[in-house]
Amino acid sequence: MIQEEFEKFYHPLEEDPLIRKHWTEEVLAFAEAYLHDLKTAKAYEKPGSDFESSFGFVLPEEGQTIESALAWIKSQVMNSGIKPASGRHMGYVPGGGLYAAALGDYIADVTNSYAGIYYASPGAVKLENELVRWLINIVGYPKEACGHLSSGGSIANLTAMVAARDHLKLLQFSPPTVCIYMSVHVHHCIHKALRICGLGAATVRLVNMDEGFRMNAEHLEQMILSDQANGLHSSIVVASLGTTDAGAIDPISAISQICKKYALWLHVDGAYGGAFLLVDAIKQQLKGLAECDSFVLDPHKGFFLPYGTGAVIIRHTDSVLKSHYYQASYMQDAYQIPDELSPADISPELTKHFRGLRMWLPFYLYGLGAFRATLLEKLSIAQWFYKEITALGFITPGPPDLSIVLYRHADEVANRSILKHIHDHTPVFISSTTIYGQLWLRAAFMSFRTHLEQAQELLDAIKMALYDLEK
Ligand SMILES: *Cc1c(COP(=O)(O)O)cnc(C)c1O
Repeated sequence: MIQEEFEKFYHPLEEDPLIRKHWTEEVLAFAEAYLHDLKTAKAYEKPGSDFESSFGFVLPEEGQTIESALAWIKSQVMNSGIKPASGRHMGYVPGGGLYAAALGDYIADVTNSYAGIYYASPGAVKLENELVRWLINIVGYPKEACGHLSSGGSIANLTAMVAARDHLKLLQFSPPTVCIYMSVHVHHCIHKALRICGLGAATVRLVNMDEGFRMNAEHLEQMILSDQANGLHSSIVVASLGTTDAGAIDPISAISQICKKYALWLHVDGAYGGAFLLVDAIKQQLKGLAECDSFVLDPHKGFFLPYGTGAVIIRHTDSVLKSHYYQASYMQDAYQIPDELSPADISPELTKHFRGLRMWLPFYLYGLGAFRATLLEKLSIAQWFYKEITALGFITPGPPDLSIVLYRHADEVANRSILKHIHDHTPVFISSTTIYGQLWLRAAFMSFRTHLEQAQELLDAIKMALYDLEK
């Protein structure tokens, strides 16, 4: 009787294996076609004038076919805006999209492994923790340091700011007496993080930059001295290992000595540039990095992973636990693990995506050497592009520290025309920035699909734009 009553529930969410096979084959074909077309596609496509009116969003009561779903995704979702997986994307900080990472996600999603707490999936948590320990080792922290994989750099930086706040007990002071030091080129997510963590009214001291837009360590020291003499609380310095604007590396070694001398928390934001630690020549220049208190790196930038992967490591595990550790009675069975911290203990997230698999599988399948070589290629392309663009007469702030090149035409209006020409008439995509009121063009080489060929396309596009200007 009861059996019959339940027959009306026909388990509609458990598809037949044959249907699953068909869906998977269609999705694979879609992905292959996308990757094939990506080679010749424009990196940026404006939405059509009817984009809003013809979007055609539907939530059907009855299930529809995979073919109709993919056709809609292709025509409505994927056909405008920036193509972050394209090698012709040289604007902002290009992202990744490694295929092997998608396969890691596929397994993570199908198994739905619970990566928040050791008890639920020791394997998933251990995999994430081992990846974090690998980063801890690269940066040179003691092994007692902790960290986790976050959804991105903004959340990773927020976690670091919260740890600094709690370590230094900053909330006990009147906010304006708390001084935090950074250059104007610090990523805006730091300001956002300070606001979110109750330090929005703290005093932000903007440290001068040198001609290559790197923080001036002497000026930093002067400001700290003067603030401390005035009875203010000098607390945090935020340095960048690769600024978003210029790809500049702040003088970490000098800054870390200053932070030590005056007992400040040094946070290094390597969301963009941190991955270059895999390249020996860059690592050599970063003496003193191991002295910092917290460090952020975005695997969805420098390790070419799909969006949704950041990483933060923090030297003072106690402080991080103070901010995040929590016990709840409905989770009492899960608290029996001695040594291994769980991501939930040290981050705002409880249930989280199993990010470790999308990071580890590419490292395993391609090998770390492939990442080193690709990062070195980006640095070499930037050096090459810098020489070429200088030879064309553009103004630059000097050779690039990493893989972002800033350049501008002496005539401000020409810069706008070049940008417009590139977006309107060529398949490559770049972005611009404004520094001290002046417009600069940027070329950011960070996609694993950007090679000399794509950089040459950009250079040709700039030459065409110049030719156009002179007509
Ligand atoms: C991209 C970036 C961020 C922000 O990271 P998201 O992953 O976009 O949240 C922070 N700092 C720097 C230097 C960046 O380049």
